[in-house]
Amino acid sequence: MRQPLVAGNWKLNGNRQSINNLLQGILGGMQDVKKAEVAVCAPYIYIPQVADSLKNSPIKYGAQNVSEYESGAYTGEISAPMLQEFGCNYAIVGHSERRSIYRETDQQVANKFVAAQKAGVRPILCVGELLEERESGETETVVARQLDAVVETAGIEALKDAVIAYEPVWAIGTGKTASPEQAQEVHAFIRQRLANNNAEVAGLVQILYGGSVKADNAQSLFAQADIDGGLIGGASLDAKDFLSICCAPN
Ligand code: PEP
Repeated sequence: MRQPLVAGNWKLNGNRQSINNLLQGILGGMQDVKKAEVAVCAPYIYIPQVADSLKNSPIKYGAQNVSEYESGAYTGEISAPMLQEFGCNYAIVGHSERRSIYRETDQQVANKFVAAQKAGVRPILCVGELLEERESGETETVVARQLDAVVETAGIEALKDAVIAYEPVWAIGTGKTASPEQAQEVHAFIRQRLANNNAEVAGLVQILYGGSVKADNAQSLFAQADIDGGLIGGASLDAKDFLSICCAPN
């Protein structure tokens, strides 16, 4: 039985005060969260503050990106061992904003996945198609390509202790959610593709849905057989909204 996971992706938002308020709000409602593991992915610089606020709580935390390198002349980068030193449980890799704005390639994303796992940080691997790719019937080709790059680089066994987030790019921050059936179709495709390699791994890996998940659509999405929770952008910045999503799998 896979435990549901609801992870917040704060993106480039917040300051000391607002993050403190947000975390206190989430902590205040955690007794209502029965089934889901809860995590927040903060901007790097606030990770020590998040770690401090969450130290006696069940809430996990992580980063929104990680360097593919361990150390060296890579100005501005943050490595996986650095995240590990600050207690990060998770690092998002291959978010569509990283792929599109910063031109991260499938291979770089795969290298980041490996770097995170090597340091004991669980990667949340994002995959997903653009609107034009969906409209031209290429959803499965794109998702398979993004997934295969990681399987080829990290090995299928590495997926056993990782999280995949299916995030159709056309649904991120747009208010347009994939229908539960549309999302389930791609989640089932991802699980089947992994199962072709290793059925045990496919059965264990958590596959989250991301893309305009809100309090009012979370339940129907998370009720799908292959959807194991969500990666939440906008709605994770409001404690009440985020908590209702965390309670959706209850
Ligand atoms: C995201 O950034 O991963 C995301 C899913 O954003 P939103 O929930 O705002 O669509």
